[in-house]
Amino acid sequence: MIKFRKTKIICTLGPATSDINVIRKLAEAGMNIARLNMSHGDHKFHGNLIQKIKTLNKDLKYPIAILIDTQGPEIRTGEVSAELDLKVGEIFKFHVIPGQEAEEKSVFVNYTDIVKDLKIGDKVTVDNGLINLVVLEKNERELICRVIDGGKLGSRKHINLPGIKVNLPSITQKDIKDISFGLENDVDFIALSFVRSADDIRQLRAIIDEKNSHAQIIAKIEDQEAVKNYKEIIEVSDGVMVARGDLGVEVELEELPIIQRKIIKECAFQGRRVIVATHLLESMIQNPFPTRAEVTDVANAVFEEADAIMLSGETASGKFPVRCVEMLHKIALRVESSGGGVGYVLQKKPKNKKEELARSAASLADSLKTHAVIVITRRGTTAINIASFHPEFPVIHAFTNMSSVRRKLWLNRGILPYRINFSSDPEKTIALAIETLKKNGIVEIGNQVVILSDMIAGIDGTDRVETIQVRVVK
Ligand code: PEP
Repeated sequence: MIKFRKTKIICTLGPATSDINVIRKLAEAGMNIARLNMSHGDHKFHGNLIQKIKTLNKDLKYPIAILIDTQGPEIRTGEVSAELDLKVGEIFKFHVIPGQEAEEKSVFVNYTDIVKDLKIGDKVTVDNGLINLVVLEKNERELICRVIDGGKLGSRKHINLPGIKVNLPSITQKDIKDISFGLENDVDFIALSFVRSADDIRQLRAIIDEKNSHAQIIAKIEDQEAVKNYKEIIEVSDGVMVARGDLGVEVELEELPIIQRKIIKECAFQGRRVIVATHLLESMIQNPFPTRAEVTDVANAVFEEADAIMLSGETASGKFPVRCVEMLHKIALRVESSGGGVGYVLQKKPKNKKEELARSAASLADSLKTHAVIVITRRGTTAINIASFHPEFPVIHAFTNMSSVRRKLWLNRGILPYRINFSSDPEKTIALAIETLKKNGIVEIGNQVVILSDMIAGIDGTDRVETIQVRVVK
């Protein structure tokens, strides 16, 4: 049994973690949410993973939620028959005519407007920032560039155009197919890549609503446009991801920690969940131990009170996926118990009566130092509200009657979600919640608990009264 940790862990599944026994080990080590990255693998591969997770969820003590991550409007190089060696200072061309006879030092790009959008002097970045070039000349067929940082260029490498507003839809045809696939498979979260504005989120929300799905939206902040519009994007999303992989290429690297902090702070202020993603334990793709700097980076995200930390290559294709989760679990637990996060959330003001009540319950539990906080929540909002005030007490025990709501609550810092059957008599529901905590050894007779409920006066929703109670366990 793992000790309860407030910060949640997301793992990207891939070839290293597609075996059901490995997924079980990840879950037992502390994975709360599995991420399926639609940039790699087809629907058959991801469908198999989803079936395996659903099979495991039948008997896992803490079922795993599923997040699918869209590819987004990615620009890529074409196929090359052998790796091209780009040397510093030499000329290299990007052309936009498919099938054009390849010159020795050139490659195809799948975005025709690249020759319109870029000006002389603009930067082209290839393979996640490893190879950099500057535009010297251009015509309607090609960009003629000088290599600034050289390297070996293989097929279908990702191109970033920092600061350029590209003329591609935020949700591509492939994304729409992948989103439909996710919704048909009842996934819990859709992470939208390269979000640029709040309208992109509204467009995805319309697709989800049309399918009558409960899936929640995670906006990936990964380019300058999203950074510019981050407040509006946070407002209309269910959560955001600081996608440091692409963001670290799209902005100057030294800006990254500042942007990370700004986004986490705004999420705390608006009461939205935030995920810190990518390169947390990058060296563990190859090595059994992380670097000191990686440990400190993970600790920093926990000190900043991010809701979740996310592994990518470390679990998708690394040599030590389970050790990576164990390592995140250990660091997060230790940092949380060292006391004192950054307290950004102190600036959060309740937006309505429900939030006011949640804040009061949180401060009551903190000042009374009660043994446990119990939330009875149908759709999860009451639990999310109380968690959004980042109370000091260690765990919010959230009881819902819906498995899908339970899975979504895995994304919130500090919430331990349970599914129970609700009774038409609210007293019986509370008694069952307390009984569940007793059985799990969390409370015992004589302990004081705070209970926040939004359904005390009836299960049908017609006669709801939100209440806070302080009780002694009998
Ligand atoms: C990232 O860029 O950090 C990220 C999580 O997105 P992807 O893995 O899709 O590049």
